[in-house]
Amino acid sequence: MMNSTHTTPKPQATNSLIRTQSYVNGMWVDAANGETFDVIDPATGNIIASVVDMGNADVRTAIDAAHAAWPAYRDLTAKERSTLLRKWFTLIVEHKEELARLMTMECGKVLSESRGEVDYGASFVEWFAEEAKRTYGDVIPANTKDKRLVVIKQSIGVVAAITPWNFPLAMITRKVGPALAAGSPVIVKPPSETPLTALAISYLAEKAGFPPGVYNTVTTSKNAEVGLELCENNKVRKLSFTGSTAIGKLLMSQCASNLKKISLELGGNAPFIVFEDADIDAAVKGAMASKFRNNGQTCVCVNRMYVHDRVYDEFVGKLSVAVAALRVGNGMDDDVQMGPLINEKGLTKVKHHLADALSKGAKIIVGGNALEGLFFQPTVLTNITPDMVIAREEVFGPVAPIARFTDEKEVIQLANDTPYGLASYFYSKDISRCWRVAEALEYGMVGINEGMISTEVAPFGGIKESGIGREGSKYGMDYFMEMKHLCFGGIN
Ligand code: NAP
Repeated sequence: MMNSTHTTPKPQATNSLIRTQSYVNGMWVDAANGETFDVIDPATGNIIASVVDMGNADVRTAIDAAHAAWPAYRDLTAKERSTLLRKWFTLIVEHKEELARLMTMECGKVLSESRGEVDYGASFVEWFAEEAKRTYGDVIPANTKDKRLVVIKQSIGVVAAITPWNFPLAMITRKVGPALAAGSPVIVKPPSETPLTALAISYLAEKAGFPPGVYNTVTTSKNAEVGLELCENNKVRKLSFTGSTAIGKLLMSQCASNLKKISLELGGNAPFIVFEDADIDAAVKGAMASKFRNNGQTCVCVNRMYVHDRVYDEFVGKLSVAVAALRVGNGMDDDVQMGPLINEKGLTKVKHHLADALSKGAKIIVGGNALEGLFFQPTVLTNITPDMVIAREEVFGPVAPIARFTDEKEVIQLANDTPYGLASYFYSKDISRCWRVAEALEYGMVGINEGMISTEVAPFGGIKESGIGREGSKYGMDYFMEMKHLCFGGIN
């Protein structure tokens, strides 16, 4: 563990869920050219495994297999698909500890959070196993006497899912759960940083009994070439992407060539507002949960805090005490609360945001230094101004920037002054203000006196440049189905 000091990481336990080949058409396969790439433990820098590095031709094989599997799979009854998903859910839950350890090894998040992610990820499989049976259509009162109008919902076809490293399991199940429930075969392209968790749950999907070709995982380091194929191949009918806004825009433009349906879950720039009437202890607890989860590397992490002048000193004081007490180290150690950043690029970004803020007048209250390897001290920064990079872009690291405000209208304007619109948070005990501010914030999700907003039962997603579509909840299935109008004529 390190609180500015480092301890030697423990040796990594072997894990029976480690698979290094891609999973295509019900088989574990190598790339045609035999290439592989290494998966690195960000806490130690050690190579965990080398996995198959697929190229275009390999991915086309997976797409063909998924397309061939589609008719029989969509013709299963909803209950049969639901049963398969339920089996997969049970297997994921049964392997919770091994999955959590694998996830911590490859993405660095602490074990308690990895265990939480297994539960969270599994919850989408369970939820959509249930939703599979409820994809109701409609009967519409006809416009003429000799017609009968009916709406049915059908599987959209082969779905490609491109996912990020910060939730190696849940970002897959949040897409694949509804797709499989709807009768759509899937091709998962996991991130090159965390392919092992993706392969482990593919193995559990195989054990659950999904027919060959229905569930495919293609591991690759050639993201651009494989991404282009998934976008331009006509047999793929839907692309669901979670990741950065820049890559989301690129994929959207590539999907324009065949007007492929897309869902995008992209980056955010979450404001966190503490009004003068807030419960300050609750606000500190919410800020800690949202800002420092996964070392500040989630799309809904607080990115900038605005605290009312009257409670500013109290909030900064209490937050600083909590942040200074955070234990940093290898996430495999149960006592650790914050792991490493994912890679050198992530670390460089944090350093750049910090240097920019300091050059424009920000003040370090806690932390502020890089530790060994990819570790960084949890940091509190004050005197933040809107021109600082840290106030405008996701820092994706353990830095909490705080600004002062005095007026409700002013702070709403500051909070909305961003191209992003994913998550936002505020604390107040005034019920009128709660409604007023919640309605005024231009975000897909608002936490009101709450820092943890994600659940499978509520719609997750953003507006503006944070994305298109919603995942989870009763709305989630619609993005993997097409609506069809049946017009029966000549009815006497
Ligand atoms: P990223 O660089 O956009 O990568 C996401 C995925 O896209 C990875 O699988 C990546 O593969 C792949 N990719 C990269 N370039 C590609 C290309 N040219 N064509 C096709 N695929 C490509 O994002 P990240 O750094 O991994 O993830 C962090 C971002 O995701 C943050 O912005 C965060 O806010 C966002 N996020 C959003 C949500 C949400 O629900 N809104 C949830 C989690 C994360 P490689 O790994 O091989 O590069």
